[in-house]
This record gives sequence, C-alpha cells and structure tokens, in this order.
Amino acid sequence: MESLRTCKLFGVIRAVLGIKGALPLIHGPIGCYYHIKYLLSLRSSRTIRILSTEMDQNDVVFGGEDKLLQKIYEADEKYSPQLIAVLSSCASSIIGENINKVIDDVENNVNAELITISSGGFEGSQIEGYLECLTVLVDLMEPPPKEDNVRENSVNLIGQYRGGPDLKILKEYFDKLGIKLTCVLTSGCTLEEVKLAPIAYLNISMCEASGIEPCELMEKKFGIPFLHETLPIGVKATGNYLQEICKNLDRDYVFAEDEKRAEKELKKYLHYLRGKKVVIVAGATRAVALTRFLSELGMEPVLICLDFEGKYTDSKMDEIIKERKIHPIILKQPDYTEILCEVENLKPDIIFGGMGEIGLSIELGIPLIDVMHGQEVTFGFEGSIRLARKIKDILEVKSG
Ligand code: SF4
Repeated sequence: MESLRTCKLFGVIRAVLGIKGALPLIHGPIGCYYHIKYLLSLRSSRTIRILSTEMDQNDVVFGGEDKLLQKIYEADEKYSPQLIAVLSSCASSIIGENINKVIDDVENNVNAELITISSGGFEGSQIEGYLECLTVLVDLMEPPPKEDNVRENSVNLIGQYRGGPDLKILKEYFDKLGIKLTCVLTSGCTLEEVKLAPIAYLNISMCEASGIEPCELMEKKFGIPFLHETLPIGVKATGNYLQEICKNLDRDYVFAEDEKRAEKELKKYLHYLRGKKVVIVAGATRAVALTRFLSELGMEPVLICLDFEGKYTDSKMDEIIKERKIHPIILKQPDYTEILCEVENLKPDIIFGGMGEIGLSIELGIPLIDVMHGQEVTFGFEGSIRLARKIKDILEVKSG
C-alpha cells in the first residue's frame, strides 16, 4: 500500500537520460511526464528534458498514433537529439498503440536515431525499466571486428546511473591504473560509446538488481566476462574492488599506500562511532556495501530495508552478517509504515537512505545521511573518510 518502489517508466527514463544527446518522448498523458521530471530534477538539482505527447481523452478513445508521429518530427527539428527514445506509458500500452509502426513510418525522415521501449507503468517497477532499457541498448551494440586488439585494459561500467563525484573518483582510479573506460551504462555515455561497448575487455556490474542481467547478455553475445564486486564504499571494499579489476586486467595494484593511509585516518573516528545504531534504507547494491563499511566502523546496523534485491544479494548479505557478527532485522520491499514502526522500536542514532527517508527522519527526529542522491563522494578511500567524518559531525550535533 505504501511502496518504496515506482513504475517501469521511471526506470526507463532515468536510464535514457544517462545517454548524452538522448531525448525520452513519453507517449502518454501529462501526469507521467510531470511527476517523473519533477522528481528527477529535484534529485539531480539540474534541468531535465523529457517530452510528452500529452495524450488526452480523445487520444485514449480514438488512438494517438498521428499525434505521436507529429511529436517525433517536432522533437527532431526543435531539439536535434542524437537519439529519441519513444516510450509507452500505461495509457498507450493499455489501448495497444502501435509505436513500432509509427517509428517505421518516420525513421527515414528524421535525423535522430529512434528506439522504442515498452514502459507501461503497470508492467513492472523501475528496476524492470532499467533492465528493459539496458537490454534495448545491448541490441544496439556492434560486435568488435575480429582483428581488433583494443580489448586490453578497457572496461565498461554496467548499471551505473549516478554520475557526480562518485563516478569521477572511479575514473581517477582507472586513470591511475591505465585502464580505459569505454562506456558507463548509463551515466554520461554517448550513443557511440554504447555501440562500441563490446570492444571492452571486462564489464563491471554496478547494480545488483539491474546490472547483472545485461552483463550476462553481453557475455553471451560478445564473450565479455564480468565482475559484480561489492561497491567501493569503505577502505576494504575499495581495495577489494580495485584489486579484483587489476587481477582481471593484469595490472599492478598501485593503491597499497592510499589504502594504508585511509585505514589510519579512519581509526580517528572509530571511538565516536562505536556502538551507534544505524538504519539503512537503500537498493541492494548500496545496502550491502554500507552494511559492511558501517559495521567495520564499529557501528551496529539494526535494520536494513531493501527496495530491490539482486541475484547475489542474499549470499553477500549473509556473508557480511556472519563475518561481522551483526544481527540486523532485514525487511525486503517493505512499505513505509512497516519501516516507521521498526525505526520507532529500534531507536537508531542515524538513518542512511535517500530523499524518500526525509519524512521518516523529520517525523522521528533521527538524523539522515542521503547516500542515494547526494552530491558528495561516497566511493573510494576518500569517500570512506568523508563518510566517517560526516557521521561523526552529525552525531555530535545531535548529542548537542
Ligand atoms: S504508473 Fe502509469 S500512469 Fe503512472 S507515471 Fe507510470 S506510466 Fe504514467
């Protein structure tokens, strides 16, 4: 009744917006456009361009394919995008609009490349949306020429939707290792990079729930192996993440000193953080990484709320729980009231979540750290120290 999840269209749009020069065009009513644009603009603090055919009652009764055709021409002329992703919505999916036929009719008369993605909100959650979009993008990829030897030392990040400082720090690490980043699917990649992605030697899944399937697909189609390491949040996790990549690409691990320095720096905070109770509300990938890191800081994860799980989430979480000897309550796909009741009972010192947890934080007077949409670095050695410092500062303010 009070789900933490949203609709498939949201996931498709978020993934499409990660491609430079791509324009999502929703074949649907204004509400789909407005709410998703509003939320994504708020989360990213930037202007986001999404278009809509603005289907009305007449279109829902008599069909809106002519309107869609017109909007594709308009979008191509007015915005000159490289790619237009035409997306169905609940309304156009239910009445069975033939979007493929419209695309066939216009594709030779527009400059943009056109794709369509089935995005009816009732077809699934945002994760199905990310997955569907990535699957369509894998179809656009071109197999590398056989004689091509560019494959060495080049990787793709798959299921990376967040840009900003975390992605920047990863790029710096790859640079130091002499590893080329071919394509970040999808955060700031170009259409050319998407098509060229199969020249990479290795794929790295960055999302338990939506990164692994496309990696498996690319392994099958192009023979690219993949990793699904725990995200580099925390000193140990960052070390493991980078070492695994080095092993696979036959590179020397050059971060031993950075790792040592960061470990030493982190020790300064342990005294403040030990025994503090934490609630984590996040997707599987971040929740797994945070659980490990926060427990390494001596904090006590008492409640972990997962909105989505991936293929390996349970086994990774079990391993951490055993290794760290912690006993959190785990809620899978909980609704808001369930979380509220548990948090009221457990009385944590701090909540790790996203914008969705602002209300919970205010209602219960428990400080929140946004680890989902924040503009701060959480990855890498530097991110570990910043996070630890931030927790300490927040807890100090709380205790007055
Ligand atoms: S659930 Fe359906 S109507 Fe609502 S935003 Fe998603 S696609 Fe639009």
